[in-house]
Amino acid sequence: SFIIVAIDGGAASGKSSTSRALSERFNLLHVDTGSFYRTMTAELLRTGLAAGDEAGIAIAAQALPLETSVEGRRAQMKINGRVVPDAEIRTPEVNANVSHFAAVPQLRQALLDYQRGQAQVARDHGFRGLVMEGRDIGSVIFPDADFRFFLHADPVERARRRAAEGQTDSITERDRLDASRKTAPLACPDGATDIDSTHLTLPEVVDLLSEHLSA
Ligand code: C5P
Repeated sequence: SFIIVAIDGGAASGKSSTSRALSERFNLLHVDTGSFYRTMTAELLRTGLAAGDEAGIAIAAQALPLETSVEGRRAQMKINGRVVPDAEIRTPEVNANVSHFAAVPQLRQALLDYQRGQAQVARDHGFRGLVMEGRDIGSVIFPDADFRFFLHADPVERARRRAAEGQTDSITERDRLDASRKTAPLACPDGATDIDSTHLTLPEVVDLLSEHLSA
């Protein structure tokens, strides 16, 4: 039967690599909701909106026409018929702004049904289910998911992983903002399986989650 796997965690906690591996192993659609928040942020920045303009963000976010295209095993957000490429959503400017945009309740609201709708996208494309990663998947988007995980790792280890990827993103600052916002703050959802990956390799984390899914 159709399964929903929710993976939450802070920046550079290993969510993306783990989700990608699970999507292959279990034939699941991979939905990276961080890329959705990044895409909306990039698009709104392009229209001239700034992080401090909550009212402007709230209105503009609700008016964005959102669609999905599936590329390989991955769900990609389309705004105005276009997938905004990685080169435009993984910039220092988006890194510095995304947590501020994501703290606007109406922007989160505009993404709620869109994210839940990914289950139908997965069905339409013949996947056995979906693995969705983010900050509030097991708490807000799919609280009844079949499997809910929360990944965390020591900040020093996470900074090391990001640096090894050649990134200079301020992950602790984003985590601080994400954990302190009023709507859907970053936290381990009630009842989710909390996994400390500090001393685990990626294959070890993937095996650990796979054991839950196969049980
Ligand atoms: O996962 P990633 O680090 O790319 O996410 C970028 C940002 O998007 C996060 O720092 C957070 O502010 C926001 N986000 C969120 N809720 C999600 C996924 C991402 O608020 N479910």
